[in-house]
Amino acid sequence: MINKDKKTANYKVIQTPQGNRYQFFCDLSNALICTTPPMNENNPDDELTKAWLNYGKNNFNVCHKCGKWIIDALYNPDTFNCVKCTPLEDYPEFCPQCGAETSDPSYFCHMCGYRLLYGGEENEIAK
Ligand SMILES: [Zn+2]
Ligand SMILES: [Zn+2]
Repeated sequence: MINKDKKTANYKVIQTPQGNRYQFFCDLSNALICTTPPMNENNPDDELTKAWLNYGKNNFNVCHKCGKWIIDALYNPDTFNCVKCTPLEDYPEFCPQCGAETSDPSYFCHMCGYRLLYGGEENEIAK
């Protein structure tokens, strides 16, 4: 789903006696990328914004096509898109569909069958 208004990566809040800690996750692989120190803002929106800007955001890239927040390994800096929107010509380390670590180079993911390589073809344009 395209969601260009998505302001942060997926996150969870952990309540601790010192304050709320935020965990930010890659939108494609669901890997835990960073955990903030305890935050103590009165307004939950401010707290999330502060956690994201101070600790989360610099670990992520935003896909200019689908708006997902993703780690460097799943980002194509040539197109400013995630590898799902624009598959890299190099073999990906992780399947963009299911997040499985890829093993031997093949055109399709061994877990879910997602196409990993576009051998010499033009990138398919979503209709
Ligand atoms: Zn994308
Ligand atoms: Zn897969």
